[in-house]
Amino acid sequence: MRMGLYYPFEWQLNQWERLLSRYRQGLMPHAVLISGPEFVGKENFSLALAQTILCVSSELKVGDKCGQCKGCMLSATGNHPDFVLIKPEDENKAIKISQIRATSSFVFQSAQQGGWRVIMVCPVEKMSTDAKVALLKILEEPQGKIVFVLVSHELGRVPSTIVSRCHKITLPLPPENKVLEWLLKGPYDKNKIKKSLELANGRPLLAEKYLTGSMINQREEFNAVLDSLWSGQVSPIEAAQKCHQKKTLDLIDWYRFRVHSMAKEQLDGVICPQIFFFYDKLNNARNWLIESNPNPKLLWEELFFDWVTLSKKIHNR
Ligand SMILES: [Zn+2]
Repeated sequence: MRMGLYYPFEWQLNQWERLLSRYRQGLMPHAVLISGPEFVGKENFSLALAQTILCVSSELKVGDKCGQCKGCMLSATGNHPDFVLIKPEDENKAIKISQIRATSSFVFQSAQQGGWRVIMVCPVEKMSTDAKVALLKILEEPQGKIVFVLVSHELGRVPSTIVSRCHKITLPLPPENKVLEWLLKGPYDKNKIKKSLELANGRPLLAEKYLTGSMINQREEFNAVLDSLWSGQVSPIEAAQKCHQKKTLDLIDWYRFRVHSMAKEQLDGVICPQIFFFYDKLNNARNWLIESNPNPKLLWEELFFDWVTLSKKIHNR
């Protein structure tokens, strides 16, 4: 667990209250599946939930943990012995079966602090096939006071056998005014906030990432690479050289966003089906990237080559 105590975001309070009221009534499900688009705060919600479950104060404060008991202190250090967080060891890799197996001993031992234990998997769709089977086996035999918190950015990729064993909570894209209000509490300029929110398609934590880091610049640089390919100023091989060491998944997402906007514009005029085929190809490339470990340079060369072909088709119309 990362350090510090976590609380749900304002746009998550309905889902939070409903789940907590189950917990207070002793009806905590043994597995919770939290799904929704990326960057809306699912991980934050899950950590807040884990910490609330691990709070050992006899009086659970209205809606939340006490922040003072031994459980809360351990949570705040990021090192609670009754909490396990399973993530891909490397961003572009799958969660391995060995990581799931390692929790078996944790599942069968008793809690060190005498209360609940929590196992969080994030994101659950990034498990390898055999890791999914191993997790399913554990979920099929619920053990005492143990809660699984599964986080998913893409619910369609989670096996239905796992989904059906979980209590489902959806955290959708929050209303824009709530996100705006939240971002305005930070030290940012209102115009910048609006631009970031637009680039992030309304996803609050991505907008925040754009505001705090150099991502806006990186995105503009990537768009410039696409422009120069489109106008024939650079070759796909030269462009791939510029991109292969950057974060492929971010770049693919920006690329998808750009082609998606092109497709939307097309819908108002004459439709060029190649744009839709190319959009599909980017989606497949994204899945491929998540599931296997392709050579980024080759991937970029191919995607840029198709991009140049697309530009020629559109120019010749
Ligand atoms: Zn506490």
